[in-house]
Amino acid sequence: MRDQARVVIIGGGIAGCSALYHLTQEGWTDVMLIERDELTSGTTWHSAAQVTNFGMTQTMVGLKSHSIKLYQELRDDPEYPVGYNHGDGGIRLANTEAQMDGYRHFASMAAGMGVEFEVLDAEECARRHPLISTDNLLGGLWDGSDGHIDPAQLCQALARRARLAGAEVNRHTPVTGLTQHADATWTVHTEKGDVKCEIVVNAGGYRCNEIGAMMGVQHPVASMEHQYFLTEDIPAIAEAGHRIPLLRCPISDYYCRQEKGGLLLGFYEQDCRTWGMDGIDPHFTNALCPDDLDRVTDVLEGAFERMPCLTETGIREVVNGPITYTIDGAPLVGPIPGKRNAFCIIGLRAGLGEGGGHGWLLAQQIVHGEAEYDTWGLDPRRFTGHATVELTALKAIEDYQNEFRFHFPHEHRPAGRPMKTTPLTAVFEAEGAEMGTVNGWERIDFIKPTRDFHETLGFRFNEVQAVVAAEVQAVATGVGLTEVSGFNRFELTGTGVHAFLDRMICGAVTKKPGRVGLGYLLNHHGMLKAEATVANIPASDRGPDRVWYGSAAASEFHDMDWLTTHLTPDDDVQIRSLTNDQTILVLAGPRARDVLQAAARGDWSRDAFPWLSVREAHVGIAPVTVLGVSFSGELAYEIHVPNQSLAAAYTAMRRAGAAHGLRLFGARAVDSMRLEKGFLHWKADILTEFDPFETGLDRFVKLQKPDFVGKAALLDAVDRGPRKKLVTLTVDCTHAAAHPGASVRLNGRIVGTVTSGDWGHRTGLNLAYAFVDPEVAAPDTALTVDVIGAPTPAMVIPTGPYDPGYDRMRA
Ligand SMILES: Cc1cc2nc3c(=O)[nH]c(=O)nc-3n(C[C@H](O)[C@H](O)[C@H](O)COP(=O)(O)OP(=O)(O)OC[C@H]3O[C@@H](n4cnc5c(N)ncnc54)[C@H](O)[C@@H]3O)c2cc1C
Repeated sequence: MRDQARVVIIGGGIAGCSALYHLTQEGWTDVMLIERDELTSGTTWHSAAQVTNFGMTQTMVGLKSHSIKLYQELRDDPEYPVGYNHGDGGIRLANTEAQMDGYRHFASMAAGMGVEFEVLDAEECARRHPLISTDNLLGGLWDGSDGHIDPAQLCQALARRARLAGAEVNRHTPVTGLTQHADATWTVHTEKGDVKCEIVVNAGGYRCNEIGAMMGVQHPVASMEHQYFLTEDIPAIAEAGHRIPLLRCPISDYYCRQEKGGLLLGFYEQDCRTWGMDGIDPHFTNALCPDDLDRVTDVLEGAFERMPCLTETGIREVVNGPITYTIDGAPLVGPIPGKRNAFCIIGLRAGLGEGGGHGWLLAQQIVHGEAEYDTWGLDPRRFTGHATVELTALKAIEDYQNEFRFHFPHEHRPAGRPMKTTPLTAVFEAEGAEMGTVNGWERIDFIKPTRDFHETLGFRFNEVQAVVAAEVQAVATGVGLTEVSGFNRFELTGTGVHAFLDRMICGAVTKKPGRVGLGYLLNHHGMLKAEATVANIPASDRGPDRVWYGSAAASEFHDMDWLTTHLTPDDDVQIRSLTNDQTILVLAGPRARDVLQAAARGDWSRDAFPWLSVREAHVGIAPVTVLGVSFSGELAYEIHVPNQSLAAAYTAMRRAGAAHGLRLFGARAVDSMRLEKGFLHWKADILTEFDPFETGLDRFVKLQKPDFVGKAALLDAVDRGPRKKLVTLTVDCTHAAAHPGASVRLNGRIVGTVTSGDWGHRTGLNLAYAFVDPEVAAPDTALTVDVIGAPTPAMVIPTGPYDPGYDRMRA
């Protein structure tokens, strides 16, 4: 074993082998994999190893497509061919119209990635899958590329190719410790000696938290026991004369594929079990958990009803093994929060299907600092301080119990809630709020008109439409109040703050005390990395001159990483997170100033406190910091309040608001209003795949500045010209929004993808944002948008159709 390598990957399952192979593909060959036992001796060896292209975001579809292409190539490699049954086809079943709507939308979204799915009716499902009955079945989604692979051969093939390219693989070498040095390099301690390296990668599967502990990190990953069995041969399969397609069933929570002449049936039972929460036996390797088919009987009954031939078939073998889950079901692939030169590729619950793609995206992040797709949905920093293993276990159980039941738009599942609350959460609930969650924080979604009001989840506009319309109306004509908890807020102090921000932000940086500006941070490829509200707070009894850097709730770890990695020892800049110390009350509407004036001493007139101002004040007895900014397009104030004073500020505001008809509003109303104003959401519309010009943020770029992070690459991008443009579309229908991922077409040809869509209640328009080909980006271009899979007439319009002159915000 060598005693140094540029990158050391710990763990030789599919995650580690794929990452190793892809690093060599990206040109880094001084890389090493260390495995405590044989390759694949964790979860990988006993995987059912199904490989589907289905995903609910374009990044997931894209990375799975990468896996499939790679696995086909490995299958066809004459020197080491891998067993891969590609193209058996697979059906995801549905017995509700809402699920069918979801499939129609996902098919449109996948089409944008060049992947063809078909939506089938029940009869066609049964025609393609001769073993199933059509009882209680509406139809399904067909993925023609579905199949399964030999997991051990796959890993061996990847390791073999990596070795040929120069990588080293060390088996039977348990990693026992990690030491990080002052220069951020690492020493990896193993039972066979130490290895010095620049970068470590945790690919430890269900042991990822043992490796995490070696660097003082607890990853939000928990394991569940998961069982499948293999049947005896089934005559109907032989009679079918073709391989039987895969089946995934959200009605009874099982999957099924052909294995030799019989079937492999895997279960997601309600009575499920976490595994390894209190430590894992060091000898658990190449091992399984004890069988327990009793607890899957509920699911089995459903499978038997769907495939009656199972009632006459014997079970040949049962497999029960640990499978890892995270808080939101997607893996953690990227930089480890708060650590330098440390990455992970863990929490894979469908690692065989996805592993090829995850290894690819991780290798790109390590080598190039960013991957081809925006990887936020996989980024380990997307959860912040609440991401404990305890919470993960609760979400893992919930996710396992809903394995094939995808989230509907606006669905916030109950496990592990409330995670993060403010003193107002219970108050809002008492006032009838339907709460949603953002990065674990409970936030008002909307205010229910009656106590027993219930939302019908699905992809169509529903009974909440009228409720949101009334909230928007109140904000547009009077005044509304809502809380935006969890908003990320850093305090920057020191003499170098503005010079530092000038370097980080691609546009003009407001330096004037008492003023607020919006800025965008680019990565080294000139693409959009972060969005920040910069507020210059003058010195006061609360502290010296300081800048508040505000950004999206989930961005805390991400933005802190980005800012601190760019600080040099010469910068006199201190950064402190205030995210969990303060919250925001938003006051919005033409009468917002009247309410503020009644609740807070001082002159709040337009002249004294114009739009984009910041001032410290008191609302009632609560010390607050008021920013004159608006996300709704109405006159609005963000009132930042320390948590301990929140109840006091809220009481004062409600008292002052009573005379002005103040009412509460929620995030759904905000989302509708911001689309009408042309305002963007970080990681919905602001992505690392696009530069600020492509995203329509031209006015926030100042190319005349001597330099800023990403400038050189941005200039190259400008020379190259835009690949896509973000546009606003009106969609000519009233039954549903254009959901993120929906394809935009010109004469049937896909020319773009929707990033956000909602009804604009003030404009009466069904609005969407989409990245489209530059040739079709001009206003008045007629296109179609797939709304729940159906091409629907749409028109490009100038962005921000509501109050284009910004008169209302500046009032
Ligand atoms: C029953 C079952 C069925 C499944 N079916 C499917 C399916 O159909 N399709 C699909 O895509 N996925 C499926 N999965 C999930 C899939 O198998 C996993 O997502 C995948 O195998 C995880 O791979 P991994 O590399 O992350 O982890 P692992 O395979 O567990 O690899 C981690 C490796 O790290 C090593 N390691 C740990 N600690 C150390 C240390 N200190 N030093 C050195 N090495 C260390 C371990 O020995 C192990 O080899 C299934 C899982 C189960 C349990």
